[in-house]
Amino acid sequence: MQRKRSGQLTRREFLGLPPTPLRALEDARRVALDEGLRYVYLMNVPGHEGNNTFCEGCGKPVVERVGFKVLADHLSAGRCPSCGISIPGHWA
Ligand SMILES: [Zn+2]
Repeated sequence: MQRKRSGQLTRREFLGLPPTPLRALEDARRVALDEGLRYVYLMNVPGHEGNNTFCEGCGKPVVERVGFKVLADHLSAGRCPSCGISIPGHWA
């Protein structure tokens, strides 16, 4: 059972609900991408490719995550370092 960093129960835990099945998360991501959303990623699914944000221009990962943590932000001034396309967002 996963706990928030604060040690409090998550809403799901409080309600006694099981984790959302990975397949449901993957399906939701796929539907969103198929409908035209460009930067859909999964949170808190460590090791899953869907944790990352991919460039819509070249398909390379521009933000890599594990769970809730950003491992690498490859953007340079909000642009993909491989193809130079601008990735919308507020980038630090
Ligand atoms: Zn690119």
